[in-house]
Amino acid sequence: MPNLLPLFVALGGRDVLLVGGGPVAAAKLAPLVAVGARVRVVAPEVTADIAAAGVPIARRAFEPADLDGVWFVVAAATPDVNRQVAVEAETRRVFVNAVDDPANATAFLSGVVRRSGVTFAISTDGDAPALTALVREALDALLPTDLHRWAAEAKRQRTIWRRDGVPMAARKPKLLKALNGLYGRSKDLRHSRSETGVAQDFTDVAQDFSPANGHVSLVGAGPGDPGLLTRKAMARLRTADLVLYDALIDDRILRFARKAQRFFVGKRAGRHAFSQQTINNVMVRAARRGRHVVRLKGGDPFVFGRGGEEALALGRAGVPFEVVPGVTSALAAPALAGIPVTHRGMASAFLVVSGHDEATFRSAVHELRPDGITLIVLMGLGRSSALAMTLLDRGWSRSIPAAIVVDASRPSQQVWRGTVGELAAGVEADVGLVTGGPGTLVIGEVVAVAGGATVFERRYANNS
Ligand code: SAH
Repeated sequence: MPNLLPLFVALGGRDVLLVGGGPVAAAKLAPLVAVGARVRVVAPEVTADIAAAGVPIARRAFEPADLDGVWFVVAAATPDVNRQVAVEAETRRVFVNAVDDPANATAFLSGVVRRSGVTFAISTDGDAPALTALVREALDALLPTDLHRWAAEAKRQRTIWRRDGVPMAARKPKLLKALNGLYGRSKDLRHSRSETGVAQDFTDVAQDFSPANGHVSLVGAGPGDPGLLTRKAMARLRTADLVLYDALIDDRILRFARKAQRFFVGKRAGRHAFSQQTINNVMVRAARRGRHVVRLKGGDPFVFGRGGEEALALGRAGVPFEVVPGVTSALAAPALAGIPVTHRGMASAFLVVSGHDEATFRSAVHELRPDGITLIVLMGLGRSSALAMTLLDRGWSRSIPAAIVVDASRPSQQVWRGTVGELAAGVEADVGLVTGGPGTLVIGEVVAVAGGATVFERRYANNS
């Protein structure tokens, strides 16, 4: 159905005919009445809704003369009747909307999204009403909830432009500036959408610093999935001039930092790209030059991320800084594998411990008893056998359930489940978990709670 002109018509006070009396006709009646059209209904029988609508009803078959004097007709009857209506309407030059019957229609009602002062019409040229409905819902979800403020401001600006004789070409940039003004200095409407297209209103997480001064935000990026970023993390990335990021930070997260220079400062192939001292110096110097620095770390910045050391260095240098906590993989990895780190009657505590070196691990678990506790080991992948042996030495039972969650929250997530005994026997190397991705070990009775019921678990069931 090509060559349709999108058009809003004023039907208020004008005669409109509705042919048909079923639920489909009833659905069309309400919007017509709502815009003030003078609707008459013609149908042998009508639903209770139509009967109660307070409009004139002719309870009989459609007759061509019903079209006399009408501006618009809606054919919501059977295809035969609709065709007859279409033919008669055509000779009288009346537009016909035929519900779900594009062959007999010359006018199409569009899907509509309304916010006070702004109306969006959606058309699929009469071919795909269900798609219209879907797009309508999507648009509704995307639009800012405070669009009425934009509309009111635009209206106000228009009177000013008219008064001052502002030429058309100059109006759009002026409006953008005025709308940005509604949100104070940190809101920029051109950037008010995330990468995923979801409208973001950051007014409540605006900068806590004076924008003129340099500062550092130590930001947690979560376990990987950009959906697990906090709103504050996104806001900081958007306004950053410089982002220093570690390994394991997803590209989709870095893309939020549109205007920033981005530097990888983490470990590559097991070696640090920069020393901690260098990273501290770069942050301090950049902030002193007035730049907004984001130090982006996986998970939470203060969980095994050396965030504490960086905070101290910034404090010593007198650089204003803040911490933006993130979703730590220590909790996200078990959660995304369906493992509750505490569970009534099973575990009333959890310990997050580094598995980076065995001596540290040994001293951390030295006094620990397996009852009622969940052990979460970060940086332990590749050493799980030795770590499990340490636990067996301390008297932990071989049958205590254990899991390894690799690449949690990423499409490549994999979960292995077994026991401490199997870990000690060196199962890790055998289960094909060597993806190069980060992995978290979970040890404790709670591992058995997970029934493999999470989405990822099902998707990657062949690995578990
Ligand atoms: N600050 C981070 C942890 C840094 S230590 C946080 O709070 O998450 C790095 C360790 O975190 C890795 O060795 C691994 O054990 C764990 N890890 C990070 N991302 C992970 C992920 N997506 N899935 C599983 N474990 C992850």
